[in-house]
Amino acid sequence: MALPLVAIVGRPNVGKSSLFNRILGQRRAIVDPMAGLTRDRLYAEADWRGRNFTIVDTAGLVLGKERDEVPALRELRRRMEEQTAVAIEEADVILLVVDVREGVTPIDSDIAELLRRARTPVVLAANKADGRDSEGLAAEYDLGDPHSVSALHGTGSGELLDAVLAVLPQAALEPEGDRVAARIAILGRPNVGKSSFVNSVTQDQRSLVTATPGTTRDPVDTEMVVEGKKVLLVDTAGIRRPGLTRGVEQYSLLRGLRAMERSDVALVVMDARDGITAQDQHVAGYVTEAGRGLVLVVNKWDLLSPEEKEEKEWRTRLRRAFDFAPWARVSYVSALTGQRVLQPIETALAVVAERGRRVATPELNRWLRDLLARRDPPTRKGKRLKVLYVAQAEASTPTFVFFVNDPELVHFSYRRFLETQLRSAFGFEGTPVRMVFRRRGEEE
Ligand code: GDP
Ligand code: GDP
Repeated sequence: MALPLVAIVGRPNVGKSSLFNRILGQRRAIVDPMAGLTRDRLYAEADWRGRNFTIVDTAGLVLGKERDEVPALRELRRRMEEQTAVAIEEADVILLVVDVREGVTPIDSDIAELLRRARTPVVLAANKADGRDSEGLAAEYDLGDPHSVSALHGTGSGELLDAVLAVLPQAALEPEGDRVAARIAILGRPNVGKSSFVNSVTQDQRSLVTATPGTTRDPVDTEMVVEGKKVLLVDTAGIRRPGLTRGVEQYSLLRGLRAMERSDVALVVMDARDGITAQDQHVAGYVTEAGRGLVLVVNKWDLLSPEEKEEKEWRTRLRRAFDFAPWARVSYVSALTGQRVLQPIETALAVVAERGRRVATPELNRWLRDLLARRDPPTRKGKRLKVLYVAQAEASTPTFVFFVNDPELVHFSYRRFLETQLRSAFGFEGTPVRMVFRRRGEEE
């Protein structure tokens, strides 16, 4: 199921990221801030009144150093147009944020003009309305009624989300069919070889493409059989999409994130000659945050000299760069020669099996007792953490709920220790696991 995508658009400093955080703050879900991810979040799943959607701060899609520099006006204009075009192309709803205190600036008018011509529904958020009203804005934008909000104080954000909900597309029901064993998204920067990889995989004699393109349930997917199991390569049309030059990185990233939403496992494809780039790390970070399985695919292996093919060194480098996902699986492939191209797919199938594994509660608690007998939990300000009980929750990402005397006493390092121990006892290779700490008595 693809979640609807809500893209936040607007000039710098109007309060987009504040609003983004405010919206996420509304949800009351099992949240596990993944260890080691220090980047800004710019992409997340949110829910409001029982509807789930994905929310993206499109400004944040400008990656790397660029984000820190203050662009000149012309450059800012260009970026805004790019950001808006990407949002129009991909989003189901655009949340345009303006600053009521500054009124309409020429760049705001440009954006509004682009949006008026698009068919994507727009919700206008008049931010920083800390007690002020924003009626004058409606006429100036001609984009429907503005919703006054204060990201700072939270006022108006419920009404704003109601307005977003009202224009969200109805969820498409997925028809029941033969069970798909794995849904796989293929992510990566342009030119790393994603489409070559898909071609190579589908041409491999050991894989059987089961439907001609366009006749699958979802025409953008490729359906095939590997090891007797049905596998869906999600949104291969997006990968093959040619001829996008402006904003292409943001575009492909946003589309890739959507594909990831519909997947169990993501392959993050890299170019062996380029080594590991910051964007590869970002993308793998999103996969981890979204709780999807992760396979790191180093492509163009054929271009390396024999010395450069030292897998042990690659392993070390990958571990360091993706230290937030030491459990990720790795494949070295050549889409050009077909070397090992099916391995990531087979690995993805194995990862899906891991994700589906349930550890019985008595077994989990035996493990916990042994662990506690071997090592005392830490203390903080003279108070010792007590871990009383653990159970695996029903969730597609393996999720463990620990009942403790006081969740505040769980440090980062103890959380990491528990995860390492849990993994060495029970596996879950290739997938993130979530660990939730609840105060005893808060059982639901
Ligand atoms: P972005 O660049 O559009 O993502 O903007 P930010 O979210 O980083 O916010 C820019 C500045 O505006 C920050 O200093 C925020 O604290 C401030 N800000 C955001 N929302 C509000 C609001 O509702 N009221 C006021 N007074 N300030 C706000
Ligand atoms: P995409 O933008 O990620 O879909 O990348 P493409 O599949 O279009 O590949 C970009 C370029 O890299 C093309 O010229 C491919 O022929 C080349 N390429 C892709 N995979 C390999 C590989 O494994 N080895 C070599 N030598 N070239 C490759």
